[in-house]
Amino acid sequence: MNSKRHPAEPFRIKSIESITLLSEQERVKKLKKANYNLFKIDAEDIYIDLLTDSGTTALSNKQWAAIMLGDESYAGAKSFKRFERAVQDVFRHRYVIPTHQGRSAENIMFSTIVKPGQYVLNNTHFDTTKGNTLHKGGIPLDFPCKESKDSSDFAFKGNMDILALEEAILKYGADKVAMVIMTITNNSVGGLPVSIENIREVSELCKQHKLLFYFDCARFAENAFFIKRYEPEFADSTIAEITAEMFELCDGAMMSAKKDGMSNIGGFITLNDKELLEQLTELMIIVEGFPTYGGLTGRDLDSLAVGFYEAMEEEYLEYRIGQVNYLGEKLKEIGMPIVEPTGGHAIFIDAGALLPHIPVDEFPGQSLAAAFYVEGGVRAVEIGSLMFGENDTKTGKFIPAPRELVRLAIPRRVYTASHIDYLVDVAKKIVEKKDSLCGYKITKQPKFLRHFTCDLEQLCSEKVNSEK
Ligand SMILES: *Cc1c(COP(=O)(O)O)cnc(C)c1O
Repeated sequence: MNSKRHPAEPFRIKSIESITLLSEQERVKKLKKANYNLFKIDAEDIYIDLLTDSGTTALSNKQWAAIMLGDESYAGAKSFKRFERAVQDVFRHRYVIPTHQGRSAENIMFSTIVKPGQYVLNNTHFDTTKGNTLHKGGIPLDFPCKESKDSSDFAFKGNMDILALEEAILKYGADKVAMVIMTITNNSVGGLPVSIENIREVSELCKQHKLLFYFDCARFAENAFFIKRYEPEFADSTIAEITAEMFELCDGAMMSAKKDGMSNIGGFITLNDKELLEQLTELMIIVEGFPTYGGLTGRDLDSLAVGFYEAMEEEYLEYRIGQVNYLGEKLKEIGMPIVEPTGGHAIFIDAGALLPHIPVDEFPGQSLAAAFYVEGGVRAVEIGSLMFGENDTKTGKFIPAPRELVRLAIPRRVYTASHIDYLVDVAKKIVEKKDSLCGYKITKQPKFLRHFTCDLEQLCSEKVNSEK
């Protein structure tokens, strides 16, 4: 599915938001002031913001209309009824606990079911999922399939390594495993999908061992689209039918609805187990809100109730996945090494391959992300050793992340074909000067999720220092 042409947008623009490109000199200053942490740059100083596809979606006219119907009653609001009906219809489970975003769903779930020293097994933990597991004293383990590390064009590189998963269950014992999670799509290996075949195998294995099996399903619709395209059994199914098939294979789901909820905030937990529901609800009332709003407004719930269906529209998904693929193909043409095949929501550039002169403990991904800002006012995010690297607790030795990636996440329905071509021009400038890019070192960091707030220092002086 290699797009030579950017897909024509299946919508037209009714409301616009201005963006400005600062001069290169100003961008260099802003970056330095943010201690080289792109999370600390003001959004108004960014031209194209690809930090995340989370909560950055442009709403549709139908969602804005639904927002006007929002019922802000504290308990039993009509908005909740509409939200609940949509979630039950799309995600197939009996009960739903609304939360304000994905990590609060994780917090409530893991606080309730993860006992200290227990394992959480995942195809690949997303950063907040890993952080929340550790925070409750759990041990997060990843089982990405072997193909996720090779250069083949296997379509379902998001899959779980079933044999390794089974081995771990046998090795640690089922009573030491709090739950098994399938992250859909698998964000940290490149936004790559999971096949129904693989979900069926994990589901079967969990049944055998009486283990709780959940989805972390922020991008369920993108995943369903890949299943339709690449799993022959589903070639003639609708996205809604595939979604139903997926969710009937798990015990419940946690979702960050800031992605395929097509909204700016929201999340949930779904489940069929009444007893667990009662336990989760107890905690949710303390930390999140009453069960019929869960940290959201009525209008947010209404936006989501419409958004889940819009995410499953095939014309939209063709355009969405096509836009990401188009960007990937263009980057390859100019010599940017990317993770292939391209996934659903982002392009992942292999910064380790682009910048072999920067050692992993000097964060080549961070170097590339900084270059995107300096060269074009583009904000990208490092997904490598700055995000996932750590020091061995015994030896103090640096353990790098498996790969040094930079993610260009594409907000939904936000940027046009010409924005994408602009990005490619910026990337081309970076490729031309890649040998002059420098490494970084951390000067200050917190205990969890350090990439959000840490301070960095540049390890060689290029133009950034000459601006002093
Ligand atoms: C975004 C995301 C989360 C966390 O959700 P937030 O809404 O950002 O709190 C968890 N898992 C996956 C796979 C995600 O993409």
